[in-house]
Amino acid sequence: MFAQSVFRLRCALWLSAVGILLLLGACAEEPSAIERVQAEGVLRVITRNSPATYFQDRNGETGFEYELVKRFADDLGVELQIETADSLDELFSSLNRENGPALAAAGLVASEGRKQSARFSLPYLQVTPQIIYRNGQPRPTRAQDLLGKRILVLKGSSHAEQLAELKRDLPELQYEESAAVEVVDLLRMVDEGQIDLTLVDSNELAMNQVYFPNVRVAFDLGDSQALGWAVAPGEDASLLNEVNAFIRRAHENGVLDRLKARYYGHVDVLGYVGAYTFAKHLQQRLPRYEKFFRQAAQKNELDWRLLAAMGYQESLWQPTATSKTGVRGLMMLTLRTAQAMGVSDRLDPKQSIDGGAKYIVHVKAQLPESILEPDRTWFALAAYNIGGGHLEDARKLTEAEGLDPNKWLDVQKILPRLSQKQWYSKTRYGYARGGEPVHFVRNIRRYYDILTWVTQPQLEGGQVAVGNMHVPGVNKEKPDEQLPPL
Ligand code: GLU
Repeated sequence: MFAQSVFRLRCALWLSAVGILLLLGACAEEPSAIERVQAEGVLRVITRNSPATYFQDRNGETGFEYELVKRFADDLGVELQIETADSLDELFSSLNRENGPALAAAGLVASEGRKQSARFSLPYLQVTPQIIYRNGQPRPTRAQDLLGKRILVLKGSSHAEQLAELKRDLPELQYEESAAVEVVDLLRMVDEGQIDLTLVDSNELAMNQVYFPNVRVAFDLGDSQALGWAVAPGEDASLLNEVNAFIRRAHENGVLDRLKARYYGHVDVLGYVGAYTFAKHLQQRLPRYEKFFRQAAQKNELDWRLLAAMGYQESLWQPTATSKTGVRGLMMLTLRTAQAMGVSDRLDPKQSIDGGAKYIVHVKAQLPESILEPDRTWFALAAYNIGGGHLEDARKLTEAEGLDPNKWLDVQKILPRLSQKQWYSKTRYGYARGGEPVHFVRNIRRYYDILTWVTQPQLEGGQVAVGNMHVPGVNKEKPDEQLPPL
């Protein structure tokens, strides 16, 4: 009995000693990666300055990676600090530097070859590497067709790694790598015929197709690959565990789907042909009218890119467009609207654009004050398309459904009901093609987004930004690298 209690006492003492030692050990230990982030109150993230990752637009910082990583920092309750690397090699060396950024979020393929330089999270996107060629050239369809072609990829990219691997089977394969360009440059070079082919990820192509009318997919090179965020390989797993939990949530709560649709969904919305056509018109037509859009926007305190987006939706930027219903001109004004807005010649592009600008301002001013921006702009577009009366009917139906009549997301769900008797018979203004304003607003928002990305604020000083095809995220300071001949 006595012996047993002594034994228990000893055990207890021993256990507390071990406990104290462990505690001391823990105190002396380095803080974990997540503890460091939390202690500093800052998440430092390294990325690439490109349209698919991070860039500045009319509202400041944006981009797919930026928006996702900003949400992650918000969830952690810390400030986000973005650093950009000039090349992929620089990105990985920064990540591995002492006191370097905690995380890389840069559209990176979690490839085998990167095991030494990065430890990847769960995938947040699946992408397919695609060989890109120029429309009008013979279309390569298999790896053999790459021989003898001038191929350029980003230095240090997953694509360079893939081509190096392919070269083992196809020793005659030649390709070049450049650290002085971004994916948009590669696509532009194919578009303009400066190189024959490039290899990029499907998400980057989907985003940029709308700028490059001649760019086409030749074939997919291999299977789809996972994009992940990365920490330095020597780092403990604490931050990565948080990242993984966040990515799981983002898959579940629809955040990833929404970002994908917004950044990489142009082709889904416009269709492939629509995307090429938009790119062609952006180069060929918009430069002729950009000045008028800018002037009208300035006079009416609007964003010129919104007006330009409306003009594209209305007439594909064609000043002599006419429709059977009697609307005419670049902004497709009815005779009544034109007269009310002081337009004497609807086919004069400058007058048409001025009239359209005045009219949207007028329509917006009629909306109830309870509708706030940015929804107010979308409601104004819907009213421009379908008329204020029908829009008001749809808002009432929306409210009756228990939804919010001041939110475009809710009202657009209900608008199509205006073409169904069971619903429109209960409204004041009756039947309307309620689906139309939904498409109208959706398309304009899409064009508006694209135009905003094409015309970066830092480039706004110059005239005719679009005419010069300033593609977002391209660092214009970077000298154009001269490529050695093959
Ligand atoms: N996703 C590529 C990589 O992981 C970079 C972007 C690209 O080349 O499309 O290296």
